Amino acid sequence: MALINPILKNSMLAVALAGLVACETVQTTQGGAVGIDRKQQMLVSSQEMEAASSKEYAQVLAQARDKGQLNRSAAQTQRVRAVANRLIPQTGVFRQDALQWKWEVNVLASDEANAWCMPGGKIAVYSGLIDKLNISDDELAAVMGHEIAHALREHARERASQQAVANSAISLGAALLGLGDVGQQSAQYAYMGLMGLPNSRANETEADRIGVELAARAGYDPKAAVTLWQKMAKLGGEEPMKFLSTHPSSADRIADLTVYAQRVEPLYRQSRKTR
Ligand SMILES: [Zn+2]
Repeated sequence: MALINPILKNSMLAVALAGLVACETVQTTQGGAVGIDRKQQMLVSSQEMEAASSKEYAQVLAQARDKGQLNRSAAQTQRVRAVANRLIPQTGVFRQDALQWKWEVNVLASDEANAWCMPGGKIAVYSGLIDKLNISDDELAAVMGHEIAHALREHARERASQQAVANSAISLGAALLGLGDVGQQSAQYAYMGLMGLPNSRANETEADRIGVELAARAGYDPKAAVTLWQKMAKLGGEEPMKFLSTHPSSADRIADLTVYAQRVEPLYRQSRKTR
């Protein structure tokens, strides 16, 4: 790479990226009471993410069904869906279009303490999360609120876009050195962004803050996010935890959650009054 003039390199990179797919700056959500207003750079389209997500979700469900792991406990499924049914109507505060998403909520029988929400509202909660953490409904709302927030903020699309940029730079370098093609399909990045890649700390903070607001508005105690992460940290110390690998935690997370749970407390009280 030392042979390449940096200005030439940057202009070539811009050309390569323009060829990949148009880059756009987007405002995925309204700020809400917690005031998340960061703009995001996207290369991969929402449509590509949702197509990848629908396909992947159907596959996960089919595999679970084959193994007898899909919604094995009717009571557990009903409980998780009841929490989701209170959270989902609150998403309109952050983005109106989410109210029209084709939301799906399923429980997968697994020892893993994990949960996720794919783009477009495809939710999975693992039975291990419920059992191992002996989770309360308020804590369940905290986890699901956090996961739904990732979907509202389109963090998977953002990760896919960052991956596309990184790989374009690599393949551009390779092309300039005569090692390969510059062209890449952005659809493959959609898959990469869906699962496996860890969220950045900034994205985790956004999901935490939006998550407590969703829970509070749905009438769940937002302070449960704090006890949830305390339980997670304790469990994570005993065994490797999938959830913590894709949702990196930081020492100041609990402090931030405490502040934001306090901030949305009036929304919680208001919601309790009307239920
Ligand atoms: Zn997360």
